[in-house]
Amino acid sequence: MKILLLNPPGKRIYIRDYFCSKTTKSNYLFHPVDLVTLSGTCSAFAETDVLDCMAERLTPEQAHERIEKIGPDAIISLVGSVSWDEDREFLALEHERGRRVLCIGDVLHGEAPERLGEEPWMEAVLHVFSNRDVEHYFAGQFDEIEDMTVRDEAGAPKRLERVARNQRKGEFRIPRPRHELFPKQGYHFSFARSAPFATVLSDYGCPYPCTFCVIGTLGFQTRPVADVLEEIDALRAQGVREIFFMDQTFGVKRERALELCEAFAERGDLSWTAYTRPDTGDDEILGAMVRGGCHTVILGVESADDELLAEYKKGYRSSIITDTFRRAKKHGLRTVGTFIIGLPQETADSLRKTLELAVLLEMDFMSLNMAVPRFGTPFRKQALDLGLASREDLVMDQGGAEAFLPTSTLDRADMLALKKKMVRRFYLRPSYLWRRLTSIRSLYELRAQVREGLALLARNV
Ligand code: SF4
Repeated sequence: MKILLLNPPGKRIYIRDYFCSKTTKSNYLFHPVDLVTLSGTCSAFAETDVLDCMAERLTPEQAHERIEKIGPDAIISLVGSVSWDEDREFLALEHERGRRVLCIGDVLHGEAPERLGEEPWMEAVLHVFSNRDVEHYFAGQFDEIEDMTVRDEAGAPKRLERVARNQRKGEFRIPRPRHELFPKQGYHFSFARSAPFATVLSDYGCPYPCTFCVIGTLGFQTRPVADVLEEIDALRAQGVREIFFMDQTFGVKRERALELCEAFAERGDLSWTAYTRPDTGDDEILGAMVRGGCHTVILGVESADDELLAEYKKGYRSSIITDTFRRAKKHGLRTVGTFIIGLPQETADSLRKTLELAVLLEMDFMSLNMAVPRFGTPFRKQALDLGLASREDLVMDQGGAEAFLPTSTLDRADMLALKKKMVRRFYLRPSYLWRRLTSIRSLYELRAQVREGLALLARNV
């Protein structure tokens, strides 16, 4: 059997992964972690190929031609709410050409049987990418499947759920992801110090309950340290030293994180970026990360407003955020603050305070995500109940090209204008530009930052 793992083409650069989708905020694009993970799983039982039309910037016509040449029996495709109409059209044509099409993505996360009922070209939906469901599905072992939506003998959608999505726990094992199947060119990561870089997942899901976030609905599982190190060493053997860890909170299992960092430090040649939470990044974890080669830490700030943090169950206050940013600086880490803006309680005043906090903390990068009612999240239910969104709205983008939701005091146009103003005021400060310029360590970084800075500003004028 021949399987093609596909990131389909689109009119814009879309990031579809990990049950989220958005347009790229500047110019960055990293390897879709669902496909990276599935590349290991699928290679263990089938001939497997990867076509990332985003990285290769393929048009739909070019992508169809490439698929014809590859000749897969089945396609496992990412889909996204940001690109749903384009994805449906492209994949329906592949189905007409005789391919079996399975999909995974945010737009199918909450209402998969409905979508499967509407889309005759789609054979089944994967709801987890860290298990062996895909192998069991193709082997006809339906009793072994943990969490998929399939079709019954009459073709009607049928939900198979042996393990509830939010109850995933313990360890998971996957055959080593096959990074070598992905394109060598076309991926850009704003924080990488050098090329090439790889995207690695050492755990799955997240144990925290932030209500706007889909990752918190996936349960939480870790990979054995030895498996992660096998993958890292295979990457090193391929000449890759720069890693983007897609774990949503590096250090959530403290002893395991310290063990990983120590093993990275022993290797002595790794350079990496990771996410963590302000209430996880204490001196011990941050110090170990730095010794292991971490240079950039991405911290979920979300808002400067303690009431908003509490409302959305972040589990920390702004004072913790401030302390952790100072601590990260002390350890010599570059810092990135991620924010969610445009929640229903957002006002011009709360946005002003958020910008002030980003400036006060001397973040190296500020990443603004627009609130969208992500499928399967508690926030989606709240937005539907408040009448801010409708079940029929399947196309949305949290990348900030548009504001999807009005807030209680700001309409969508005002919200978008204020977000653009925040970006300009943060990034165009002379003191910031000077700091940025003087911290660049390589030609690769200089090129990447100029390219992505220009793309960011073009999007926010
Ligand atoms: S926002 Fe971060 S900490 Fe909260 S559930 Fe999502 S991934 Fe976990």
